[in-house]
Amino acid sequence: MADAARYHRLQRRLSLLGFVVSAAYLLALLFTPEGRVFARWSAGAAESRWAQVGLVTVVLVGVHTALTFPLGLIRGYWLPKRFGLLHQPLGGWLMDRVKAALIGSALGLAAIEMVYALLALTPLWWLWTSAVFFVAQVALAAVLPMWIAPLFYRLTPLADARLGERLLAVARRAGVEAIGVFVADQSRKSRTANAAVVGLGRTRRIVLFDTLLSDFPPEEIESVLAHELGHHVHGDVRRGLLVNGAVRLVTFWLAALALDAGVPLFGLDGRADPAGLPWLALVLVALTLVRLPLANGFSRWLERRADDFALVTTGDAPAFIAAMERLGRLNLAEPSPSRLRELVFYSHPALERRIARARASLA
Ligand SMILES: [Zn+2]
Repeated sequence: MADAARYHRLQRRLSLLGFVVSAAYLLALLFTPEGRVFARWSAGAAESRWAQVGLVTVVLVGVHTALTFPLGLIRGYWLPKRFGLLHQPLGGWLMDRVKAALIGSALGLAAIEMVYALLALTPLWWLWTSAVFFVAQVALAAVLPMWIAPLFYRLTPLADARLGERLLAVARRAGVEAIGVFVADQSRKSRTANAAVVGLGRTRRIVLFDTLLSDFPPEEIESVLAHELGHHVHGDVRRGLLVNGAVRLVTFWLAALALDAGVPLFGLDGRADPAGLPWLALVLVALTLVRLPLANGFSRWLERRADDFALVTTGDAPAFIAAMERLGRLNLAEPSPSRLRELVFYSHPALERRIARARASLA
């Protein structure tokens, strides 16, 4: 437990440092003469608007990536390895990061190009941007889990037929028809364990990390799965998309006001000037920070309901508690973070609280 506290303290400090580096970088681009020349130059070095936006994005994001890469390496690889959470070789870890970065940059670049195309077209760009993002997110939520998982994991059908039957029975009891149970080879990378319900309709399947299979007795696996089924039955993905969409609409509206205010402030050639990208990024980062506690509060509410669903579905609170304790040890979770830290940073209720709630259901 001392290990968990130390691990999270180090991670928190590094994440704060990363935030300071990113903010300082954006502020330097905006408020130092060299930074403004750099942003102006990278925005002006191409002919068409598409190329300008692409170039300024690639240059500014590229420098940011180079600045923050060492921190990412420490936070994502070195620390987890030191604390025994990760045993993936560096080459494989880097390859996973490259794949994630390629997918992320392709989507990110497309998004920024679209935002600037709309910025040039209409003052209501924030409304259209929110609408397009919403549609894109819905489409991605439908297909990404099935496309992405095979890029990072080898998925094989569960060999243990008895366990498979048992888990499908839990799914049926929860009212979810799944086509089968698959295993992802997480143990190649890490000891952390989880389960998921992915896909829609006829492609819906249960995916278990092999770490869950090797370390957890069947009744605990049922509890973990029942929690995931809870998300599925409650339509949490759909609910999340709707709430996200509404929050994003407000975010972009505020960003539009800030961007217009930034035009005279930073000597921009109108709101669609690609040299304004650092300002737009800074505003969006600030707005994201403001909504972080709200988003996490919403997420903790969904997680509590999924826990309750799991307890009702399995009727086995002791197995749920045992699974939580085991997951906490494996994932090096902080059992009882301060209330304030939980409110701001935690997407799941603190372990201690989840266990207390399960105990209370026994009474
Ligand atoms: Zn959950």
